[in-house]
Amino acid sequence: MQEFPIVGIVGLGLIGGSLGLDLTRLGYRVLGVSRHSATCSAACRLGMAHLASTDWRILTRAEIVFTCVPIDQTLPSIEHLAQLLPPGVVITDVASVKEALVAPATQYWPWFVGGHPMAGGAQQGIQAAVPRLFQGRPYVLTPIAQTKSHALALVESVVQRLEPHLLHCDPRAHDQAVALISHTPVYVSAALVLAAGHTEPETRQLAQQLASTGFADTSRVGGGNPQLGLQMARYNRVHLLTHLQQYQRHLDQLKAALLAEDWPQVEHLLARAHDTRPGFVQARGIISPD
Ligand code: NAP
Repeated sequence: MQEFPIVGIVGLGLIGGSLGLDLTRLGYRVLGVSRHSATCSAACRLGMAHLASTDWRILTRAEIVFTCVPIDQTLPSIEHLAQLLPPGVVITDVASVKEALVAPATQYWPWFVGGHPMAGGAQQGIQAAVPRLFQGRPYVLTPIAQTKSHALALVESVVQRLEPHLLHCDPRAHDQAVALISHTPVYVSAALVLAAGHTEPETRQLAQQLASTGFADTSRVGGGNPQLGLQMARYNRVHLLTHLQQYQRHLDQLKAALLAEDWPQVEHLLARAHDTRPGFVQARGIISPD
């Protein structure tokens, strides 16, 4: 065995391509699998993989495989890998939901470890991949009781080299927390963009010219990859609905204060928001990507 394990990546999009860029730079041998031969050529040319193919059999030489495909393709990909890979090869995923995936994936493949890098962007596909996407960002692993400790250790050793903020939690706790800080913002932001799109033409035209960083920040996640937003909701519907109801309650509270012209209450609520935000975004110097 060489110094670094041979890494396989299935799905050379934003996350898979970005992972490939970093791992080749760090000295790993990377084997990529895509549905399209043009993507395979691009991945090799751009330095995301040493070898890439539409034929999954190239992955039989890998020691660890990252599945970087849409959420609904994660279990089918793991099932497919389970028919190809020799026992003991570690599989990990990057999907944004964990509870629906980790237990069945571990049943198909006992050397599976759930993972989710909390890093991304509004674009998708190989052209959206960027180096050092995961650096300084949370990367959560979600082992369960059946997770093999040596599989977890191998995933940790590779992921650590991306210099993320590495955390561990159980799949359900993960889904509850990401519903709050990732999936609810997508739906709140999407509603904001839809509302902006439904204003009267004259107001909308001027607003489009005046829109600056504030609107760019608040609309970014709602204007992102629609398929990802849809799948987050389908796979994390209950927790998402719980947090949307909480959000609606607070919006109603703000609206009621405005209707009543209760300015001390408006100020109180805005001051609470001001004081609460740093606990989520400033502690580790999180800055919004474009
Ligand atoms: P993406 O840019 O669209 O990449 C996904 C890749 O999966 C595609 O480029 C494609 O690669 C492959 N794929 C295989 N089967 C597919 C199918 N039926 N339909 C579409 N693509 C298919 O998406 P991504 O943002 O990298 O997301 C991949 C995973 O990362 C998802 O599970 C998502 O939950 C997770 N994630 C996303 C973000 C984010 O902000 N975007 C953040 C953290 C985690 P080939 O063309 O090479 O086959």
